[in-house]
Amino acid sequence: MIVMKFGGSSVESAPAIRRVAGIVAARLERRPVVVVSAMGRTTNRLLVIAAAAAGGDRARALDLLRELHRDHMREAGELVRAASAGELHARLDEMFLELEDLVKGLSVLGELTPRSTDAISSYGERLSSEIVTRAFENLGVPATHLDARGVIVTDHRHTQAAPLYHETYERLARIIPPLTSHGVVVMGGFIGSTLEGVTSTLGRGGSDLTASLVGAGIRADEIQIWTDVDGMLTADPRIFAGPYRVKTISFAEAAELAYFGAKVLHPSTVLPAIESGIPVLILNSRRPKVAGTRIVRETVHADNVAKAIACKRDITLLNIVSTRMLMAHGFLRRIFEVFDRYETPVDMVATSEVSVSLTIDNAARLDDITRELSAFAEVSVERDQAILCLVGENIRRTPGVASRVFRALEPVNVLMISQGASLLNLSVVVAGADLVRAVERLHDEFFSNPDPAIFEPVQTGAVAV
Ligand code: ADP
Ligand code: ASP
Ligand code: MG
Repeated sequence: MIVMKFGGSSVESAPAIRRVAGIVAARLERRPVVVVSAMGRTTNRLLVIAAAAAGGDRARALDLLRELHRDHMREAGELVRAASAGELHARLDEMFLELEDLVKGLSVLGELTPRSTDAISSYGERLSSEIVTRAFENLGVPATHLDARGVIVTDHRHTQAAPLYHETYERLARIIPPLTSHGVVVMGGFIGSTLEGVTSTLGRGGSDLTASLVGAGIRADEIQIWTDVDGMLTADPRIFAGPYRVKTISFAEAAELAYFGAKVLHPSTVLPAIESGIPVLILNSRRPKVAGTRIVRETVHADNVAKAIACKRDITLLNIVSTRMLMAHGFLRRIFEVFDRYETPVDMVATSEVSVSLTIDNAARLDDITRELSAFAEVSVERDQAILCLVGENIRRTPGVASRVFRALEPVNVLMISQGASLLNLSVVVAGADLVRAVERLHDEFFSNPDPAIFEPVQTGAVAV
């Protein structure tokens, strides 16, 4: 068995879903289990609808919902033959009626809880998985739909729920293998339910995690993450023109890159796969012939020091200074307790005797955090910063990497630098406005002479199917 996960852009339209059917059909003998994201930007659209409804703009919420309904009906209509279209359309109508009830309920309550956010955002994958199942059948690929909420069990942290691994693996192993004899199993990513059966979601980008959980649960031979780029690239192609495809990368490197912003993989994805030693492949659904990126357990040797550069925008930098705390023990603990209380992860930290600089990605609780910190320290906040992270197993073995980074970034003001505890990353903070230039300069410095065993230029142009 293999798991094939198709992201939002891979199932965004009828032609995209037809391409997916072709890719899956060519691999039927490997008994694929298909995990799909919501179509295109549906999750964003649902969240906008939910916010409009709860914010009192009921008419706009209902208008946007009707638009989403139309879009789904149109693409579904192009995928299924008239004979079976009625059934699918009826099913979609039914789900959109439920959504309408939810939207009306939210507008009465005027409040959007994490739990009701999940109730609404889960429909993206519920819709796409049913459409893809029926499309497969119509295109001659035998398929059977599985409601992911029956197998992915999570805790109660709605909108970013964590899987309950034991229960989830038990259900996946019990329920999926027998279903594969009825054809390709198709399920939605991202969604799950609590033990009590309340719908939950795994956080944005969570379909990758679903794929990895399913892979581990059914002991798949391989997990394939099909997306809109050729694989893990040496830099985000939206920021840097001309990155290389990384042919093979270790789990540790991939996890680090994902955490520091390489959105092509969700940060938690690799863990279940590592634990079960299942290889993960990243592939391009628009160019299925490209070999993609293979993520493996062992270290991957390359002549270059780094495998790739990841970056995160919209980072907030906090400088926390307390002269009173000079040499006092317990200062760091007090600081981190505040971040812990407001459930705000800290990404990078640099300390001196009287000050601590750190970065956070999620600034939703920033006001509370600065208020509490101000009780015992002076706090200054700089928004709109960016983290750049150079990742590669060779970094820990190679002297002089930091000086190369500084030299490359000479014209850019580096606000913070840190070598992660894993020793396979070196991260710097720069102003958001300097990000593009900094990525270009780092890329020139570390990839001007790419090892052909590991890196390959990304081909552009004709789409080979
Ligand atoms: P999907 O909808 O398939 O889950 P995502 O949008 O979540 O796709 O992830 C794919 C995107 O990740 C790419 O379009 C690319 O812009 C972005 N990305 C960021 N960093 C990298 C990187 N280092 N390599 C490849 N893609 C990256
Ligand atoms: N549809 C969800 C999102 O947009 C999950 C995913 O695509 O991975 O975040
Ligand atoms: Mg994604």
